[in-house]
Amino acid sequence: MSGLMTGKRGLIMGVANDHSIAWGIAQALHAQGAELAFTYQGEGFGKRVRPLAEKVGADLVIPCDVEAIETVDSTFDTIEQAWGGIDFVVHAIGFSDRNELKGLYADTTRANFSRTMVISCFSFTEIAKRAANLMKDGGSMITLTYAGSTRVMPNYNVMGVAKAALEASVRYLAADYGQDGIRVNAISAGPIRTLAGSGVANAREMYNFQQRNSPMRRTVTIDDVGGSALYLLSDLSNGVTGEIHYVDSGYHITSMPIIEELKN
Ligand code: NAD
Repeated sequence: MSGLMTGKRGLIMGVANDHSIAWGIAQALHAQGAELAFTYQGEGFGKRVRPLAEKVGADLVIPCDVEAIETVDSTFDTIEQAWGGIDFVVHAIGFSDRNELKGLYADTTRANFSRTMVISCFSFTEIAKRAANLMKDGGSMITLTYAGSTRVMPNYNVMGVAKAALEASVRYLAADYGQDGIRVNAISAGPIRTLAGSGVANAREMYNFQQRNSPMRRTVTIDDVGGSALYLLSDLSNGVTGEIHYVDSGYHITSMPIIEELKN
């Protein structure tokens, strides 16, 4: 199948480098004919994002730090001036102080709890509201989550709490905008080696554990996530909203480790 995204325009938020999940998604969308715009958080990331945007023919590359709401507003003003409307948005943004992505969840500070929630959860609601205003003919939005939202994962701590709230936001936003033909879904990705992923203590052990113990005996790639994002952002999923779609080699269906010695 080709040209699934031909004639559609969308915003990709959360590319830090070519290992980013958002970059895997951008490439899958570009390959199917989508026109893309990108945001980047600060000039340090801008230097990396601009050449990547160029590779997929994107001219709109906009600074946006979700902690500064005026930059979120200016991002959507820029999109409106350039395109008039928008068909899809990818929110692949998360942050917590790495000093609190280890040890006890109970030690989370009030300051980092609030900051993690604003950046990793509430920013999606603020972005969805602005994007929905530009989706006159309907549209599709996705965010990225992780299974630490519903089960305890070592060291994921406050990010797990933020992802639980993010997943609840997906359902409320899906209900808010469903009648306007706007769909809101999340992809729950298995562990992938990215900048954000490396902030969680012992991330490598988690990665290796899931590789050994997922039904498919492998971890997922940014291309795997890109394929599922393409489905959720294209018309192929026109009847789907409010879903948390797992792309994790099936890890979330297991109840205990599939260590070979335990079999038979
Ligand atoms: P990444 O480091 O490549 O991307 C994280 C992005 O968040 C970066 O581009 C960063 O600039 C952006 N960001 C952080 N704070 C921001 C702010 N204040 N304003 C604007 N942007 C900000 O890592 P990634 O793993 O690709 O992360 C993308 C999303 O996927 C995150 O929500 C993450 O929680 C989620 N996720 C990651 C994994 C994994 O194992 N890597 C698994 C499941 C879900």
